[in-house]
Amino acid sequence: MTTLAIGAHVDQTDPLAEAKARNAPLVQFFLGDPQGYQGPEFAYAGGAEGLKADAEAAGVDLYVHAPYIINVATTNNRIRIPSRKLLQQHVDAAASIGAKGLIVHGGHVNKADDPATGFDNWRKAIEATDLKLPLLIENTAGGDNAMTRYLERIGRVWDAISGCEQADLVGFCLDTCHAHAGGNPLETVVADVLAITGRIDLVHCNDSRDQFDSGADRHANFGAGTIDPDLLAAVVRDAGAPVVCETPGPADAHVADFAWLRERL
Ligand SMILES: [Zn+2]
Repeated sequence: MTTLAIGAHVDQTDPLAEAKARNAPLVQFFLGDPQGYQGPEFAYAGGAEGLKADAEAAGVDLYVHAPYIINVATTNNRIRIPSRKLLQQHVDAAASIGAKGLIVHGGHVNKADDPATGFDNWRKAIEATDLKLPLLIENTAGGDNAMTRYLERIGRVWDAISGCEQADLVGFCLDTCHAHAGGNPLETVVADVLAITGRIDLVHCNDSRDQFDSGADRHANFGAGTIDPDLLAAVVRDAGAPVVCETPGPADAHVADFAWLRERL
């Protein structure tokens, strides 16, 4: 048995009710539309202040997942500039509810672009953003010229941002489905990532519907995908960080996933 905190990605309307339904000490959710540029929204009836106070009272840790469309690495000004704005807005919003971290995907540059431009755009984004809470950069499963699919690229993102004043506020979120489907062996991924970043702040524990190195991002409930069960548990155990299951719900399915995982830790 282990005391690792295990929770899930849930609906944003009442994350605390979702936490309670799963008996989970942490939850992750979006603030607003994960596919839109219109900025964060608070769906919780008590607003941001109410959510912060109620989460503290309930002893539930909150994590916010930034919109998928944020791509601070891109060379396209019409995406990069609004992405930076949206990132700052989500940092502010996540900080206002007392979240422990804001999770953002690594993004990508266009096929013909030099990835070095993307790494430097990451540096500029960190320098331009007032980080009021830890920003957790997540590895992604696929995409052309992605910044955080392969370890070598993650290393170059880290090299680019390591000199930033706020580097201490930049952490890493390891997604097991993305690592597997992205082509990074789970046997060594925890050690490999730690050698680069020195930290894993959060694990997105997901089984993968697709094969190793397929580049596809389709999460599965534990045991229903292509990842070896013991390997999935070993990653969680070795990372030693809080866990968010982004597996298909509803609450019962998440509770079953938590139990499946705990049995193997
Ligand atoms: Zn994830």
